Amino acid sequence: MIIEGKLVLPDGVRHGQVRFEANTIAEVGDSLGTTDYSFDTSSLIFAGMGDIHIHARDDLSERQTYKEDFRTASAAALNGGVIHVADMPNNPTAPIDDASYRAKCDHLASREVPIQITLYAGIGPGTKPLSFPVPYKVYMGPSVGDLFFHTLEELDETLASYQGCAVSFHCEDPVLLESNKNAANHEDRRPPECEISATQFALQMIEKYDLKGKLCHYSVGKGLPLIREAKKNGLDVTCEVTPHHLFYSREDITEKNRGPMQMNPPLRRLEDRRAMLEGLREGTLDYLATDHAPHTLEENAKGVSGQPHLDTYGAFVTWLLVEKKFSPQRIAEVCAENPGKFVNPFCKTKKFGRIEEGYVASLTVLNLQKPVTIARENLKTKCGWSPFEGITFPGSVEAVFLDGAIVR
Ligand SMILES: [Zn+2]
Repeated sequence: MIIEGKLVLPDGVRHGQVRFEANTIAEVGDSLGTTDYSFDTSSLIFAGMGDIHIHARDDLSERQTYKEDFRTASAAALNGGVIHVADMPNNPTAPIDDASYRAKCDHLASREVPIQITLYAGIGPGTKPLSFPVPYKVYMGPSVGDLFFHTLEELDETLASYQGCAVSFHCEDPVLLESNKNAANHEDRRPPECEISATQFALQMIEKYDLKGKLCHYSVGKGLPLIREAKKNGLDVTCEVTPHHLFYSREDITEKNRGPMQMNPPLRRLEDRRAMLEGLREGTLDYLATDHAPHTLEENAKGVSGQPHLDTYGAFVTWLLVEKKFSPQRIAEVCAENPGKFVNPFCKTKKFGRIEEGYVASLTVLNLQKPVTIARENLKTKCGWSPFEGITFPGSVEAVFLDGAIVR
């Protein structure tokens, strides 16, 4: 199969062709043969995009599959132009050791989803690393689920056995969360200082235990210089940012939308939102990762935190490209290449992240001249809503190729 159009390649954007052989990219060039799918200049062809922070809510307990499962999360991902995801471990039966992790893998396999789903293992008080390489997630303080630490000393002691592992941190200091717990609203109960303090601690741990560190859903502008400095000093740390922290600030919260606009970490000030956009543009932030958190609207109204974002990933990316003037190459890095680099060590069968020979034959095609208004009836997530309903993005997902076949 040959696909032709404006390719976003590691060394630039240019018109060309990609040839697939089975589920792998066999060749990239100018004239490889007759095209099967051709896209005009209104579209950009990216390597298949990856979202390395989602909550599919599916595990052996099936206690939360009324709001999402691996199949509906996979459908929502493809709907949004996302061809691989990484799923967080804060399930009712959390994957924290060989047996529970393998059980979740078997459960995932039984769902027979078309996309690659990389599973994180959880780190909780006293856990030990698995006997095979996996990415780990640590919740410093309470969020959704029971997998968290009460003190940073406890976390330090546990991390000592994870030397050299890939560890992602949810950066909110549990002690500061506790001392702010009586504030009047969600944002003030989880103030920026919680994230800054947790960032300092996470960076110390990454250095101390030689971790491949990742900071999740970054949201505080004042934390960015710490990350920049750490990277400059050669620390192995990367950083995610979500669509909601790039698009909304706490000034957008009203009495009416408070339920769906609550998440952990919470929405911050406008100056923080601007800092996240600049951080993603200039390279302090490395991934657009959604923290896709499908809860029902009734649950959100009762104070459960998180927003679903998989269905709208590609449309949101066109906002970064068109409205915020991100270069196509920077988008390729934060949506495809860096997510690929993150999951590739854990995936034996495919290589994600680039339009290049040997990489998986999956592509995300975005049309920058075909606006889309987000509507509930077009969503595939089981929770059935999007914070972006009614919002018109300047472009949309034109096509998705998955493992050598067109699927959207
Ligand atoms: Zn999360």
